[in-house]
Amino acid sequence: MPLTKDSPATVGVAEEVEARRPQAATHATEAAGPASASVMLLRLLRAAQPVSRAELARRLGVNRSTVTDTFKPLIAAGVVREEAVQPSRQDGARALGRPAVALSFDDGQDYFAGVNVGVRHSTVGLATINGEVLAEEEFDTPSEPGDALRRVVSVVERLRGRARGRKLRMVGVSVPGPTDATRRRVVYAPHLGWDDVDLAGALCFGEDGAECGTESAVPVAVENDATAAALYEAHLRLGRAESGRLEDFVLVRSGTGIGLGLVLGGEVYRGGGLGAGHAGEFGHMTIVAGGKPCVCGNRGCWERYASASSASALYVGDRVQLGGQAAPRFVEIVARAEAGELRAQRTLERVGEYLGIGIANVITGLGVPRVIVSGRLVYGWKFISEPLRGAVAQSMAGRLSGWSVEPGEASGAGLGGALEVAVEGFITSGLGV
Ligand SMILES: [Zn+2]
Repeated sequence: MPLTKDSPATVGVAEEVEARRPQAATHATEAAGPASASVMLLRLLRAAQPVSRAELARRLGVNRSTVTDTFKPLIAAGVVREEAVQPSRQDGARALGRPAVALSFDDGQDYFAGVNVGVRHSTVGLATINGEVLAEEEFDTPSEPGDALRRVVSVVERLRGRARGRKLRMVGVSVPGPTDATRRRVVYAPHLGWDDVDLAGALCFGEDGAECGTESAVPVAVENDATAAALYEAHLRLGRAESGRLEDFVLVRSGTGIGLGLVLGGEVYRGGGLGAGHAGEFGHMTIVAGGKPCVCGNRGCWERYASASSASALYVGDRVQLGGQAAPRFVEIVARAEAGELRAQRTLERVGEYLGIGIANVITGLGVPRVIVSGRLVYGWKFISEPLRGAVAQSMAGRLSGWSVEPGEASGAGLGGALEVAVEGFITSGLGV
């Protein structure tokens, strides 16, 4: 049921948690709709903890009884704990009475695995629901998907030794390409050269004697890396959002290519119907007619002009590969720009302008004026941001009041995004309670 401040969901929240339990996110086929009150409460708790029931109710605009009903079974199950906290100054009315009780996640029992499949490097990590990293390992991504997935399985199995005594609840995978509607397969990852790979099917981790391929195996959710980064940035911002809900924004992840993560109507948007899992592929929209060839088979795609990788080609210009030497990589170009080299500075300004042209198109088309740029490109923000803003300002998007483009994680939220996919899947499936 859609939740607004005018019609708080006061009934059925505990039942809703119960009703969602059997799905356990093994097959993430649920269409993305408005989140239930319980899911929104759990997300807000995780982002703002420790936090009182009253504060949760106030920020989300729901009744205290909704909060109580949601957390009662979770406290009984030991997933959420209560603790006494010193009353804050704003909470003066309670200062002389009983100490306030705040809720937080108890992260002593469970853990999550994140797998970020990158074009050059992949990272595997284990973490608690509160973000404490228990183990992490990076390796070069094998080019064959079968080899890559065997490597992931062996690394996760080895790292699991460092999480003894805890239960692996969910595996989140981020990949540089669109996924299928069930979020188990990557449909096409052009920079990896992977075509329709069943990632979830290969990442089988049993728990307590569970058999792979059955409902009792650890659930796996596969997400496009830009959407995973959007989940990560949304979580970071949720703790500060007075409304207590995810605010709409567009995340532009620029590294080897460009991918977009969309948060629309307070939820991550993945596309609908046959296009589920395909939303956000703006990196392959044509920005220069008959332009540079792209790995996707088209010419003149946005990512050929505004990704971190495209900067190398722009820097070299039309000259053939600097007398046989490889073109400098993005971070090297940034270092040269910092040192005052004009060619490097002009290159970054040009990338910023192309990035701004594409961002203006996205803002104009979606009507979402808030943009976060994430990925390697952020390292050159000092040189990129002004021409970027100039390009947006002179477009129709520039007339929207309050548009903003801000830098996010330079790492592109790689492992953090993958772990966020796992935790978000756990929360939306009812925490296994
Ligand atoms: Zn393309």
